[in-house]
Amino acid sequence: MTRPAYGLLIDGAETAAADGRTFTSFDPATGEPVADFARGGAADVDAAVAAARRAYDREWRDTTPTARGRLLLDVARRLRADATALAAAETRDCGKPLAQARADVELAARYFEFFGGAAPALHGEQLPVGPGVVDFTVREPHGVCGQINAWNFPLNMASRSLAAALAAGNTAVLKTPELAPHTTALLGRIVTAAGFPPGVVNLVHGDGAEAGAALSRHPGLGLLTFTGSVGTGRAVAAAAAAAVTPCVLELGGKSPTLVFPDADLDVAADQLARGFVEATGQSCDLPSLAVVHADVHDAFVARVAARAAAFSVGPGAADPDVGPLISQGQRDRVERHVATAVRAGATVALGGGRPAAPGTSAGWFVEPTVLTGLGPDAAAAREEIFGPVLTVVPFTGEDEAVAIANGTGHGLAAYVWTRDLGRGVRLTRRVAAGQVYVNCFGSGDSVLTPFGGTGLSGYGREKGFEALRTYTQVKNICISAS
Ligand code: NAD
Repeated sequence: MTRPAYGLLIDGAETAAADGRTFTSFDPATGEPVADFARGGAADVDAAVAAARRAYDREWRDTTPTARGRLLLDVARRLRADATALAAAETRDCGKPLAQARADVELAARYFEFFGGAAPALHGEQLPVGPGVVDFTVREPHGVCGQINAWNFPLNMASRSLAAALAAGNTAVLKTPELAPHTTALLGRIVTAAGFPPGVVNLVHGDGAEAGAALSRHPGLGLLTFTGSVGTGRAVAAAAAAAVTPCVLELGGKSPTLVFPDADLDVAADQLARGFVEATGQSCDLPSLAVVHADVHDAFVARVAARAAAFSVGPGAADPDVGPLISQGQRDRVERHVATAVRAGATVALGGGRPAAPGTSAGWFVEPTVLTGLGPDAAAAREEIFGPVLTVVPFTGEDEAVAIANGTGHGLAAYVWTRDLGRGVRLTRRVAAGQVYVNCFGSGDSVLTPFGGTGLSGYGREKGFEALRTYTQVKNICISAS
């Protein structure tokens, strides 16, 4: 079977890279090639930003929010119509278990639906300055939005950032993640088929150091949104700062779960076990650090380990609980972290190696792993591992629990498990994170709720109505009444 091939999407048409280069993506479960892509460089980024600017000036900024919303709603419909094929492509491209890929496609459709519906609701406010003037604010788009995404939720993330940017009246140039560009390329075809004017959405496939770096330093951007690691985020923000481009950084996390003795330990253990292996542990806000009261530590670890031990591991297409990691490099990194932890005195309460399950010999698999016996300063308790590895650290008092939770430097999500309502409320204030959950591992509707970090996890907010504020800037207008 011939492999599918995708050009860069620039000005409404798929084109080869200016220098003709291409690259191939691979199935992490088998190592087999999946699809070929034009490999964009600085010249292609220039062409894409110029096309996006033309589309913005020519028509998009003056399109009514209702008309923009209708196009977005049509993308949602098309995503749902293609859901089976898109989920299969996502699974092959980034290894995700099929059920998780299906859920991601539905979430992608919901982003287009939500932002399509919300577009006309964004408005400024009137300010009571005095009888001599009429003063009000309007929210205007930034212009061309550069977007650089990670590979762990490719379609989902492209949808959340594109839908919000377009709804707010921006045009976009998106640099797809080179390890998993397939479903974003398919989204590009859906956007074109839905009838978006040429140049409103542009996709550049290619390497971070080349296409990504060219986009982040481009002087033609009105806003840059970046999702990825802390190290790359620093470089991207520095490049954007040189062009005085405002930035949104959605970076990594080491999201703590604080477990108190009065919590419903069964429910907490069950949800925590599911949580730390989601997307094979390659999700920025998943609960990868458990901070557990010493009185229940051993019993709680036993429950989590027992649940995670029952998870199936295998190729995403077989719809297991846990799929492969994205690449050999990522598996090496996870294995290095586990080895370092063991050298530092960790007890491996579960896993720690490669699975022997059928279908796992060729790809980048690791077992769900639970590490105990480490202090809060150990690397495995502070650093993002980005694999299915849970580190459990004991505490005895609330202040100590907060210090451990806040001591990683990250601040994306935090989870608190207690039946004491007062303690739950207190901790929502004391724990430093962009989102704090009490007795749950998510709101159940991540499209509606704002999302972003503090500290090393970045700044700015995506998702929910807050994203429409992110993707617009305020202009104050004052008109004399005389
Ligand atoms: P990464 O930083 O290596 O790459 C992210 C993107 O940046 C890719 O598209 C890459 O090509 C590009 N890039 C790489 N070098 C670049 C450079 N010099 N200039 C510009 N762009 C460059 O991250 P990754 O390994 O793809 O993703 C995993 C990381 O992303 C994890 O840390 C994870 O926590 C984070 N993440 C955060 C969120 C969030 O919303 N907070 C969501 C998903 C992933």
